[in-house]
Amino acid sequence: MAKKKIDHCSFCGRSESQGAQLITSPLTDAFICVDCIETAAEMLGIAADNEQEATARRARARNSHAGSAAKPQTSEKKTPKPAEIKEFLDQYIIGQDQAKKYLSVAVYNHYKRLEQKADTNDTEIEKSNIVMVGPTGTGKTLIARTIAKILDVPFTIVDATVLTQAGYVGEDIESLLTRLLQVADYDVEQAQRGIVFIDEIDKIARKGDNPSITRDVGGEGVQQGLLKLLEGSVVNVPPQGGRKHPEQPMIAVDTKNILFICGGAFDGIEQAIAHRLNKSFVGFSTDAKTRRIERDSFMSHVSPQDLKTFGLIPEIIGRLPILTHLLPLDRNALRRILTEPKNAIVRQYTKLLEMDGVALTFEDSALDFIVDKAIEFKLGARGLRSIVETIMMNAMFDIPSSKIKEFNVTADFCSKQLEEAHFDAASV
Ligand code: ADP
Repeated sequence: MAKKKIDHCSFCGRSESQGAQLITSPLTDAFICVDCIETAAEMLGIAADNEQEATARRARARNSHAGSAAKPQTSEKKTPKPAEIKEFLDQYIIGQDQAKKYLSVAVYNHYKRLEQKADTNDTEIEKSNIVMVGPTGTGKTLIARTIAKILDVPFTIVDATVLTQAGYVGEDIESLLTRLLQVADYDVEQAQRGIVFIDEIDKIARKGDNPSITRDVGGEGVQQGLLKLLEGSVVNVPPQGGRKHPEQPMIAVDTKNILFICGGAFDGIEQAIAHRLNKSFVGFSTDAKTRRIERDSFMSHVSPQDLKTFGLIPEIIGRLPILTHLLPLDRNALRRILTEPKNAIVRQYTKLLEMDGVALTFEDSALDFIVDKAIEFKLGARGLRSIVETIMMNAMFDIPSSKIKEFNVTADFCSKQLEEAHFDAASV
């Protein structure tokens, strides 16, 4: 009697009743399921047409083929020491020494924690999530992005303003883990060792009277949700994110070892700091003058208490034990930003024209002029690029088709170009 044929995948053995979507061989009785095709394609490095579908399938394939094809990559890269991390940051970020130092140590310790064996009775190294406080445009995101360049753990940047409590329009808190999973190419183990930078953390402060918030997207609700992740818990993450695909199988991610770095401008926090400091200085009037703190340096006195005053819940603050600050950028810093970082805007233009065989130079007075404009228009470091771009637009258009071999940018030239382009603060 002929044996009854049960259709199952010749690779993983699953049948259609077990959820395998089978494809029949045109020549033999063999079958292969879609998940195994996906895994095989991935092993061969074949790109998928539909990235969303491919990533979701890959996630499913990884889950159901645990221990088979998709082994997490072990890195041979040597962990950089804090001083090396800082040195690297110095090449891109002007000033902000405390923040760079704190971040370097935190990232280094993160690696050490990851190396610690789970089953030892050794001292348990707890993770130290970080919060960076500093005015907008002073380099918070830049520090995070630069750190990402030297890391060999998955790293992602998410904006806290898009996060909302479940049920509201926006993204669920878990979506930040979706991003991390995506960067880790759905390798859960790797994602669980990753680093997440949460930008604009101050925007989820508990503050009903903030005029910029027209609808409370659940400030405190979001903080509670975030707390769960910061504390370390197993979270079910939708691999494709969002709520559009309720049928998608969830991936469990343990956040215990994920390092969270938060950044925020905390507009107006100086007042809270000043208020607190003045209060505590009452009674020391004899040398009150010498203890007087300059307004600009208030930021360097920021304490967890000020974050609480600002509207972060104490539980969140407790889970962000490292607090560091960034200082407002002064004229000198802006001037250095123009030319010193490895990817400084002036260096970039010089390189661009060098590729056309043209030697570009900026006179000191031109650089001063650019800085003056950034200050005049209150554009900070962010404005430097747009000012330089506006100034250089005509030259970049004309020079490549001319015979010019040298081009010198003067303050006069800068002024004319901005005038012609009707450049003002609104142009940025
Ligand atoms: P923040 O996240 O603090 O709002 P960003 O890091 O996004 O600010 O900074 C905006 C841009 O300004 C950066 O991309 C960079 O070009 C420039 N910039 C800001 N601060 C610095 C700095 N300290 N050193 C060098 N460039 C800086």
